[in-house]
Order: sequence, then structure tokens, then C-alpha cells
Amino acid sequence: MSDKPLFPRVALIGLGLIGSSLSRAMRRAGLAGHIAGHARTAVTRAKVVELGLVDSVHESAAACVGGADLVVICTPVGSYAAVAAEIGKHLKPGAIVSDVGSVKEVVVRDVGPHIPAGVHLVPAHPVAGTEHSGPESGFAELFDGRWTIVTPPSGTDQAAIDKIVALWRGCGSQIEIMEPGHHDLVLAITSHLPHLIAYCIVGTATGLEETTQREVIKFSAGGFRDFTRIAASDPIMWRDVFLNNREAVLEMLGRFSEDLTALQRAIRWGDGDKLQDVFTRTRAIRRGIIDAKQA
Ligand code: NAP
Repeated sequence: MSDKPLFPRVALIGLGLIGSSLSRAMRRAGLAGHIAGHARTAVTRAKVVELGLVDSVHESAAACVGGADLVVICTPVGSYAAVAAEIGKHLKPGAIVSDVGSVKEVVVRDVGPHIPAGVHLVPAHPVAGTEHSGPESGFAELFDGRWTIVTPPSGTDQAAIDKIVALWRGCGSQIEIMEPGHHDLVLAITSHLPHLIAYCIVGTATGLEETTQREVIKFSAGGFRDFTRIAASDPIMWRDVFLNNREAVLEMLGRFSEDLTALQRAIRWGDGDKLQDVFTRTRAIRRGIIDAKQA
């Protein structure tokens, strides 16, 4: 623990995989004096108390943010407007409001209007996660060596940006600063589209007749299994990602569909050179990810 925490009082709104991991990581590094937490349901609040994940648990988000120097919204992005409307009037002057959402323009759109003058909005996205949900699935090491993308709207107070950067560095992350719209485009191809494809292929398999379905499960090690892990991700979270990053996902999906059609044509016409060429290029990408220690 450092002598003086970066933030004397932190409020976490949402205590699932990411919120609870952030609490654990902040404690590991001594970044917060007191961590107040809010979860929507009594079941989650009871679990958080049982696991001792925060210093105080609050039934209302408004009560949770009272006196907080840092508020981090850790709920699905579709809930942001309602959460922000509830906490806006209760924010302490000079406080920083941040989030962990997988889409970033939505933060400026839905949270921005509820931030009073003198409070700083500095959105962020830790590009780290698992297919599990809830406070019991979090762990302090989740962000170690992973990227956190900080997306401050133009004109944001530099000191507030620096504190969010220090927070995520303290939690083990590497930092990239990005414009929110650019973030949404990059993540559409690196994260959102892969999830959509996984949901789609697993959905297609569940639509097959029963005998074939049983064989799909039995022989899933042939590649299908990896898609099922991604397709087991939280349905609400991913519904909200697609509803709130529509333009960028549709743009990337258009390109993907064209490339898929090109592969379909290569198979139909027996164009082995084309297939081998594409598969060789994609193999190099995997090697690049391993070299960058993001595997
Ligand atoms: P999670 O484990 O399902 O936890 C979500 C939390 O938000 C729970 O505490 C839940 O409360 C609360 N919540 C859900 N709906 C709410 C609503 N309408 N109003 C108020 N609170 C609500 O989800 P997560 O994986 O931590 O994801 C949280 C955020 O992190 C999302 O914005 C997601 O985009 C982002 N993110 C996720 C990942 C990932 O891999 N999972 C990675 C990076 C970023 P109850 O339990 O009481 O319902």
C-alpha cells in the first residue's frame, strides 16, 4: 500500500466481473481509501458483502456516489443514461466520473448531459475480460498487461485524465489514449464482430436437427468449442454493445460479408491459391498477437 491513496473515496456503480475486478485491483495497489459499491439487486449486494469486495455497499446509486472523488460506472452501456440521471445531482464538485464500457461514444451521449459543471468525465475501457459474469468471477490480475483505452472528450481537464491513467496503470494496465469514435471503430473489428460471428455460428448449430446437434457437441474440439466460449458471454452486455455501436459494427460487417463471399467463391471454383493466400496472411496475425503478449 502507498501512504496516500490516489483517490480517498471511490464509488463503483455495478459490481459484476469488471466492477469487482477493479475493486480487487485497486485494493491490491492501495489506490483507494474507501471503496463504496452499488449493485442493483439484493442478491448481488449480499454476494459482495459475503466476499468482502468493497468497504460499504449501497442500495441506491445516488447514495453510493456521495462524497466520492472518483465514480466508475461498471454496468451494461444500455443502463448508462438512467444511472447518470440518478447520480448526476449527487456528485461532489471536482469529482471524476469514469466508466469501463465496451463502447465509448455512448458515454459522451448518455452520461455527458448529466455531469454538472466542475465534475470531470473521463471514459475508459479496459480491454480485458472473460465470458463469466458477476462479482464472484472477478479477480485482481484481470487487467495485468492488458490495454486500457482512455477516451476523454475534447477539452477534458488534463489533471483528471492523468489521474485515470494513473488508476489503470496502478491496476496493471498499459494505456492508450483514443478519440471515442475511433475506439468504437477499432473495437468493432477486434471485439464486437468476433462476438457476433461466435453468437451466429453457435446459433446456427443449435438450429440443426437433434442428431447432428449431438455430434456438434461431441466433436466440438474441431474448432466449434472456441466459438462456444465467446458465445457464452453475457447476453445483456452484448445486446447493449450492438445497439450502441451500430454504425461501426455495420461498417465492419459489410466488409466481412464481402470477404466471406470471396472465400465462398474460392471454395466453389476450387481456387486453392486464394484460400492458401488468405490463410497464410491470417496465421501471421496470430503470431503478431503472441509476440505482443496479448495471447
Ligand atoms: P456483469 O458481470 O454482468 O455485471 C454487471 C453489473 O451491472 C452488475 O452489478 C449488475 O447488477 C449491474 N447492472 C446490470 N444492469 C443494470 C441496470 N440496468 N442498472 C443498474 N445496474 C445494472 O457485467 P461486466 O462483465 O462486469 O460488464 C460491465 C461493463 O463492463 C459493461 O459495460 C461492459 O461493456 C464492460 N466490459 C465488459 C468486459 C467483459 O469481458 N465482460 C470487458 C470490458 C468491459 P446485478 O448483478 O445486481 O443485476
